Amino acid sequence: MRIGVLALQGAVTEHIVSIEKTGAQGLPIKRVEQLEEVEGLIIPGGESTTIGKLMRKYGFIEAIREFAGQGKPIFGTCAGMIVLAKQIAGGEPGHLELMDITVARNAFGRQRESFECDLEVKGIAEPVRAVFIRAPLINEVGPDVDVLTVYKDEIVTARQGNLLVSSFHPELTDDYRLHQYFADMVEDSIAANS
Ligand code: GLN
Repeated sequence: MRIGVLALQGAVTEHIVSIEKTGAQGLPIKRVEQLEEVEGLIIPGGESTTIGKLMRKYGFIEAIREFAGQGKPIFGTCAGMIVLAKQIAGGEPGHLELMDITVARNAFGRQRESFECDLEVKGIAEPVRAVFIRAPLINEVGPDVDVLTVYKDEIVTARQGNLLVSSFHPELTDDYRLHQYFADMVEDSIAANS
């Protein structure tokens, strides 16, 4: 099973390392044609405005929408979550607009620019180690969205069908269980489509 990591900007190598711990193969995706080589895609953290701009420049907006339309799973972490959201609070235009959530960027305030904690994720037995860096949070979710983690009354992990998002960076720890959760989604989608 092959899982791609969108490699336009951001934490790409760390995601590849975490994917490979699940036993799947991790591939950096730099050109739209490479999407054909993978069964699932991770959109990493970084800077969402920059990632969005590069996605437009290289034709990834349509290509990733099509990828999602084929039922192939996508996991957005931090900036990747912002890029997947239907709406960004404050009126900034969205990017892929695939997932029925509204996100607020840099939502944890200046004094909490970055922090770590252990969080319960629905569907994973023990708490997961989470690293937050200028992280967004989810303000609103549509009816088809399943909330997987609430941290201090804020939604920080959610799933809608084949789309998974987290406010934090699971790739910056050696805890790869959220990647395993995503790899299981990819495996299920392959079974469902074959
Ligand atoms: N603050 C960044 C943004 O708004 C996201 C930060 C991250 O991905 N670590 O795009």
